[in-house]
This record gives sequence, structure tokens and C-alpha cells, in this order.
Amino acid sequence: MINKDKYEAITNFLKICLSDKCILKKEINNLNTVMKLVEMTLKKPFAYQKLKYQTKVDLNTSIDIIYNFFTEINPNYGNQFLNILRETIEDNKYFVEFEKSDKNSYVDGKGKVYIYYNETLDDTYSIMHEIIHKFSTQKNQTSSIKKLLGEIPTITFEYLLEDYLLKKTSFKKDEILINKYNSLIANTDKCLEVFTEYNLIKMYQKNEKINDEIINKHLSIFDKKDLEYQTLNELLEPVIDKILDKKYLSFIILNRYIIAYITGIYLKNKIKIDKNLEELFTLINILGKNDITKEEDIKIINNLNLPFTYEDNIKITDENIKILKKGYLREISNYKNL
Ligand SMILES: [Zn+2]
Repeated sequence: MINKDKYEAITNFLKICLSDKCILKKEINNLNTVMKLVEMTLKKPFAYQKLKYQTKVDLNTSIDIIYNFFTEINPNYGNQFLNILRETIEDNKYFVEFEKSDKNSYVDGKGKVYIYYNETLDDTYSIMHEIIHKFSTQKNQTSSIKKLLGEIPTITFEYLLEDYLLKKTSFKKDEILINKYNSLIANTDKCLEVFTEYNLIKMYQKNEKINDEIINKHLSIFDKKDLEYQTLNELLEPVIDKILDKKYLSFIILNRYIIAYITGIYLKNKIKIDKNLEELFTLINILGKNDITKEEDIKIINNLNLPFTYEDNIKITDENIKILKKGYLREISNYKNL
């Protein structure tokens, strides 16, 4: 049982967030589309314990691997990577900062890269991921294109890096697969959280308040054995706590990862066949641009072979959902026995 104050707080929070004046309106439209991907994922959730690495890989080895990986896919990227590593700011500090830590690596608003490493193969993935972000430095952080599509190149390249490591290095296969194995688990967790927020929003939209009675009535539409029922039963309270604590709805950030995980599988499968990375390079380029109008960006994006269209918000046809689902199911079957 959730206490009355909490219900009142979450009701008030949602009232503000979902009002017509709120800038989140558009995000809610996108949420409806992302829910198609969420539902697809939760039909076959990848829910296991995350795996730990057994082999130590020193940081310089990871940097060398990524330099070779970039050079092989695009010599410009190899050179850009070296330049970024050498780049310094005013006080002679490097633009890329490395620190041994379990924290998540990121690129900040000024384009400074923070790589947190732990001397495992995971470092290759995080260096590559953040440097791809750096290639399209977030000059226009708030553009809706970046908000929704900003993780597609990074996550697609993670899949490609996995193939590269399998082909070109002598690390054990199991070690190489851990990164994507763990990220498929993380994607399931993200889907569960977004699913819970979505249901909370639906409950509020229908009743204009949240309380026990409304929650119980909402839960009664699901079968108790269903993952949906169990998820809401378990996650509603922690998710409400998190929203009240952070003062935002997580789906606004999680949407782009869910879009990217599923689109990434689609794109890497396509690249495996046509060996053509140009579209991905174009996307990286667009995400880094701030000197062309949004309309032109949108035109270019819709000319790429992506499994969705983007106008004012993102749209996926049922036909494409089927294709994405096939790719996702095949992908998780590769990792099941790890
Ligand atoms: Zn990222």
C-alpha cells in the first residue's frame, strides 16, 4: 500500500507534466510509438543476471583496438580518434579524461569526454560509444532529433564492434559477448520502467488522479500470471518514488535507448548484408550539425533506410514492427546460452 501523501504528490506531478502547456506533450506522442517496441520486447524479455568479466584488458589495449576498429571502418574516424585523444583544453588537460571507476562514461555539454574504465573488454565498448558521440558533438542538445535518435549510431556500432572483436581478436567468445548480453538485460529493464510509467500516465489520464482504487481497477485488466501484471505490481511504487525524487519521467531519456537497441539490431543486420556504412555515417553527421534547418535534417533522415519515419514525431508501421520483432528474437537467441 502506497501512502496518501505519495498519491497526492504523484497526482500533482502528473497534472503539471500532462497539461496542454507542458513541453512534454510531444514526448507523450513518441511514447505511444515507443510502447510498440516496449511491448514487443516484453513479450520475450531478456531477463537474466548480468555477467562479469574474467579477463583483464589494460586500457592501452582497448584504445589500440578501437583505433584499429575505427581505421578499418572509416580511416577518417581513425584519424579523428587520434586527434581527439591528443586534444587539450586551456589548462593543458586532455579533452578526453580517463578514470578507473564503475561510473558510466559520458560526453558533457561542452564536448569533454569522460571515460570511466575498469580494465575489461567493456572499456572498448565505452570508448567507442563516447567517441562516436564526440564525432557528432552535441551542439544542439535539445533538438528533438537528438533526443530520439541520438543513441542509434553509438549502439549500432556496439553491435559492429562485437563482430569485429570476434573476427579480429583472440579474446574468448564468451567474454566478447558479455557487453551485448548485459545491455540486452539493461534494455529489458528500461522497457519495464517505461511500461510502468506509461501505465501510470494512462491511469492519470483516465481518472485525473492516482490512488489504490484506481490502481487495483487498472491491474484487474491483466491476468495475474502475466508479466505486465507482475511488473506493475512490483514496480509501480519504486517508479513513483523515483519520479518524485528526480522530478522527471524517465521515459523521456529511456525512449532513445529503446529505439536505438532495436534499430541497432536492424541496422547491423542490414550492414552485414550490404556492407554499406554510409547511412550510419550520414546519421552521425546530421546529429553533429547545427547549421542546417531542422526541416532539411528531417528530409535526410527520412531518406535513410531506417525502420521508422520521423516528422513531428516518430512513426513505425506494423509491417516494420514485424521486421524489428524478427530481428530482436533472432538476436536474443544468440545470447541465451551464455
Ligand atoms: Zn550514449
